[in-house]
Amino acid sequence: MGGPSGRNGGFLGGLWEDLPALVRAVGEAGALRVAEACDRSIDAIESWCRDEGVDAWLTRRGHLLVESSPAQRGAWRPLAELAARLGAGDRFVPLSSSQVRARCASPVLGAGVLQPSGATLQPARLALGLRRALLERGVRIHEGTRVVRFTTTAPVVVETEAGRVEARDAVLALGAWCAGLPRFRRVVIPRGSYIVITEPAPDRLAELGWTGGEGIADLRASLRYVRTTPDGRIAFGQAGSAAGLGTGLGPRLRYDPDSIARLVRDLPRLFPPFAGVRIEAAWGGPIDVTGRHLPTFGTLPGGAVRYGVGYTGGGVGPSHLGGSILADLVLGIDDGAASLPLVGLEPSRFPPEPLRSVGAALVQRAIVRAEDREEAGGRPDPLTRFAARLPRRLGYDLGP
Ligand SMILES: Cc1cc2nc3c(=O)[nH]c(=O)nc-3n(C[C@H](O)[C@H](O)[C@H](O)COP(=O)(O)OP(=O)(O)OC[C@H]3O[C@@H](n4cnc5c(N)ncnc54)[C@H](O)[C@@H]3O)c2cc1C
Repeated sequence: MGGPSGRNGGFLGGLWEDLPALVRAVGEAGALRVAEACDRSIDAIESWCRDEGVDAWLTRRGHLLVESSPAQRGAWRPLAELAARLGAGDRFVPLSSSQVRARCASPVLGAGVLQPSGATLQPARLALGLRRALLERGVRIHEGTRVVRFTTTAPVVVETEAGRVEARDAVLALGAWCAGLPRFRRVVIPRGSYIVITEPAPDRLAELGWTGGEGIADLRASLRYVRTTPDGRIAFGQAGSAAGLGTGLGPRLRYDPDSIARLVRDLPRLFPPFAGVRIEAAWGGPIDVTGRHLPTFGTLPGGAVRYGVGYTGGGVGPSHLGGSILADLVLGIDDGAASLPLVGLEPSRFPPEPLRSVGAALVQRAIVRAEDREEAGGRPDPLTRFAARLPRRLGYDLGP
């Protein structure tokens, strides 16, 4: 369980938030097909947990996507309007700032939208539940076994440090670690996402009026995500930290003191009743950022290795859809999930090294600095603004 699947923020959602990026990538009809298929993944995970007796603490109370600074005022509106224009207006329910505060009385959060289909869960419980279900079906799992080499034609030969396996087909589902393979080096940038979790404090949650179990994210490009747990904790995370950029997938992607300190500082500002509540744990992990902010699936030249990569920090629901796509690709079923236009989606490429790492680190710092400045009621300086907006100017679906 070294990957983010067992230690993420537990926001189980679809791809509606990526609707503008989806429309740009695959057109309106394709975008709707993908987003609707991904919603079915939320339903499927929920019913799988129920049928398999896996108590992943799945709580289906929706996700709020809300403003956290005056600069974000109304930033959710184009998304809601696009969904409405495509006939999916019910996926985003607009909420005024007082309606948001009735759900969570944070002095920082403003108006936004409720995504009714969203859920939260406990990711380690889900991952362990999946593991148990697979073992019961006779699947052998080799944890802690690093693949060092593989071929791409059938039969695929996969070598580890201690042995080798042959198979007719293979699937690469490596998340951010894909960035280590030459083919994906310019497709994926690993970036850090970090979380802190408080001790249980249900009385403080009651003080906030945040007892409905909704997950909350703000509209920053360096997105904050916050949720409660059934035992009354707050788990508070922020994606898009610069840590790890340019340094490969090093230990700072598991724990970055600066990113964690920032979360510890921010928590009582966003949720004043939590001042003085102990932080019980903090951790992080790598996310696989693509230029389109969307995952992509396909087959490597050679024909026997399929891949799915690029959930860009939002893979809990979409990786279930990804699993269906990859299964259909392997089985040659081409009229189901594998017919979705995420298959064979041409990625937008990042520049070659050293521009990729240096550029990404500089741009990411500028994004965080600009958004912090806006949150403090100021305006970022022109150079910071320019750098923060550079990805959009260059045609990527990244950044503010
Ligand atoms: C801190 C954090 C919070 C997040 N919060 C959310 C959230 O709230 N909601 C959401 O939707 N998404 C979230 N995400 C993203 C989400 O967790 C991922 O998109 C999703 O888990 C990706 O699953 P995956 O199966 O593609 O890959 P991963 O879970 O990343 O698994 C990849 C696996 O490949 C293994 N591997 C790598 N190299 C090798 C090798 N050479 N040989 C063998 N194995 C190898 C790794 O050890 C790892 O176990 C978060 C991510 C992080 C880091």
